[in-house]
Amino acid sequence: MPLIDSKGMLIYAMENKFAVGAFNANNLETAQAIIEAAEEENAPVIVQISQGAIDYAGEDCFFAIVKTLAQKASVPVVCHLDHGVDFGTVIRALRAGFTSLMFDGSSLPFEENVKITKMLVEIAHASGVPLEAEIGKVPDAAKGPLSPEEVKKYLTTPEEAQEFCEKTGVDSLAVAVGSAHRMKVQSVRLDIERIANIRERVGVPLVLHGASGVMDESVIEAIKAGISKINFATELNKAFTNAIKEKLQAEPELVDVRKYGAYARERVKKVVKEKIKLLNSTGKAEEIMDFINKNRYFEKKSDTSKIVE
Ligand SMILES: [Zn+2]
Repeated sequence: MPLIDSKGMLIYAMENKFAVGAFNANNLETAQAIIEAAEEENAPVIVQISQGAIDYAGEDCFFAIVKTLAQKASVPVVCHLDHGVDFGTVIRALRAGFTSLMFDGSSLPFEENVKITKMLVEIAHASGVPLEAEIGKVPDAAKGPLSPEEVKKYLTTPEEAQEFCEKTGVDSLAVAVGSAHRMKVQSVRLDIERIANIRERVGVPLVLHGASGVMDESVIEAIKAGISKINFATELNKAFTNAIKEKLQAEPELVDVRKYGAYARERVKKVVKEKIKLLNSTGKAEEIMDFINKNRYFEKKSDTSKIVE
């Protein structure tokens, strides 16, 4: 089916206490693995393209891959920009056709983040596309595990989350609740009370980044407390790369990229299916499409009130 936007999908997940998996695609094989896994689980899915992926192959190239695979798929698929770092990147993704956007102004001062996010929300909405933004900061653990003090420093407060949403009109909110990006082991427990407190004050779906490092039981608790979109990237990268290492170690003469590519694709698919089950989005494809068809958030009617003769 054609690509859909993420607005109704995430609202339905929020109202029904499950989460939609958002998985980062970094090449053709991972995009295929994500969408095939969603089809096998009959689940809605978000394929997301990061700034790094755009630097690697271009937003137009990735969009063409995701769009083509989505059209052939039996489940609803969203093509989402993950961590657009500046105004221009978000606009380029919008022009390329992305059906969901993120602007990450979390390293900017609060008012600056509000200003740019609000501007992008208006532009995105005029094009019928929702926008995610971030308040607090999900830190990066690429250089090794972070101390509890470092994680605490960036946590989202319920008050700033509420103020940010009211001032920007953003469609979904990424919150810092204890996870970190690029963690290679699942060892984090999230601040569940903080999630529940933010949920009480904020009307839009909440997003968890850096879920690869979060323990499964904590992910389940986070969904119960009010998280509706959960991002996974590192675990997919890890599965893909380890599968290729294994395959080439076992068959050092292998040179056909399709042979080890297909092997690694299967392994990524397995991880995505496990995550979809964990988030309780298995079997939700039809009901989510029914909901979306009844609630068209961005359907625009021409405003003729301003026309003067
Ligand atoms: Zn992230």
